[in-house]
Amino acid sequence: MSKEKADIGLIGLAVMGQNLILNMNDHHFVVACFNRTVSKVDRFLENEAKGTHILGAHSIEELVEMLKKPRRVMLLVQAGKAVDEFIETLIPLLEKGDIIIDGGNSLYRDSMRRADYLQSKNLLFIGTGVSGGEEGARNGPSLMPGGHEEAWPHIKDIFQSISAKADNEPCCDWVCMCPSGSGHFVKMVHNGIEYGDMQLICEIYQIMKDILGMSETEIADTFTTWNKGTLESYLIEITANVLRFKEKDVFILDTIRDAAGQKGTGKWTGIASLEYGVPVTLIGESVFARCLSSLIDERARASKVLKAPNVKKFDGDRKQFIEYLGQALYASKIISYAQGFMLMREAAKQYNWKLNYGSIALMWRGGCIIRSVFLGNIKAAYDNNASLENLLLDNFFQDAINKCQEGWRKVVATAVVYGIPTPCLSTALSFFDGYRSKRLPANLIQALRDYFGAHTYELLDSPGTFHHTNWTGH
Ligand code: NAP
Repeated sequence: MSKEKADIGLIGLAVMGQNLILNMNDHHFVVACFNRTVSKVDRFLENEAKGTHILGAHSIEELVEMLKKPRRVMLLVQAGKAVDEFIETLIPLLEKGDIIIDGGNSLYRDSMRRADYLQSKNLLFIGTGVSGGEEGARNGPSLMPGGHEEAWPHIKDIFQSISAKADNEPCCDWVCMCPSGSGHFVKMVHNGIEYGDMQLICEIYQIMKDILGMSETEIADTFTTWNKGTLESYLIEITANVLRFKEKDVFILDTIRDAAGQKGTGKWTGIASLEYGVPVTLIGESVFARCLSSLIDERARASKVLKAPNVKKFDGDRKQFIEYLGQALYASKIISYAQGFMLMREAAKQYNWKLNYGSIALMWRGGCIIRSVFLGNIKAAYDNNASLENLLLDNFFQDAINKCQEGWRKVVATAVVYGIPTPCLSTALSFFDGYRSKRLPANLIQALRDYFGAHTYELLDSPGTFHHTNWTGH
């Protein structure tokens, strides 16, 4: 085996690693691969990678020897311990300026720690979000790299070549010029938004089924129609496909157990929102909705004793109400993305990240699960004003929300009357009403805190000066 042949080394031959390697090979990069279970290297070379330029290594030492300098080694292994273990093994084999890239769903704080650690070893680190699942990895994912700035020129060509393209631009750009976990932070928010988008779709589906009594086909047709308008997106498209899917003449969706799984990135987004004090309520509710769904046996018992409201069948204007549902979905989605960008903005403030919000929207515009036409509008909003305080203050989104408001309120109110849970549609509306309120009842909270705990309060006309009242006269 001649040395220094490969442009990049990739460790991890599960679904993401294999597909990303094949994608890189399609774009004429030579990839050397390795996997903990070494037999998978030969199996891959003899099957999926047969006839390609992909090289296989049977040890990490062999992998490192195959790489051009500066060496680029990408990890696509299970997040957590496996990443740290591979990093430890690689360190003594690499030289100053070599680059380790973690493409797994790692927690951004781990990426921050790894960036600092590798810097102390004179190595460069990139933590990158990779989105789009198996199909994205194979044909063009959304890539969100962040980390040591000096490493970016060495991976830019590979990453932007293999990524998805939207409006002829790569769905991959440098997330931030800072040695930090910004790439994985942005990927975490992306995943949180994905949780929110899916839960919103589920709530609309339940209202269509349980209030309007629509059939799978009618619901699928509605989603297909929506997919030709402002809601056009991958998740809306595949929802229609899922609804239509039949096995042995039975709609398979009806037979699937209604307990949602989760791998943790939605929860991480919720935790980050609490840590940074940002009201990312919709993603939070979407995580709790999955938790509630998983109490499936308890719910079955509760359903026998806790009664639903006694309401007559829906006899309103169905066509109009379906239009309202589209408006409620669209408005809530705007709120969710506004909240996600608020979270990124706050983290950027705390870590001194210079995030480019327009390019983040562009990275999500294609290749990933949340890809949508709507992300083009978000990019336009940040192109118009790079320091936009909140998406809801952009003219396009103000206008969009105003047009949807009536339908959104009718949907949430009707769902409440019929006893249909709409945690995300409702929290989005509550957030909107809170955000647009000049005055909230937090004055009472302050008064109560001062009453029982002497926590003091500020007066409207003199913020920064703290007062205490002797509320009981004792
Ligand atoms: P995965 O199932 O998350 O991980 C399997 C890979 O990790 C295998 O190569 C496995 O090696 C290796 N591995 C697991 N534990 C290990 C350990 N303790 N030490 C060394 N190696 C270990 O694979 P994946 O689904 O392809 O995902 C790879 C990464 O991308 C993950 O971080 C995942 O969260 C992220 N991701 C996945 C998707 C997706 O749609 N699947 C989408 C975006 C991002 P063996 O073969 O030896 O077991």
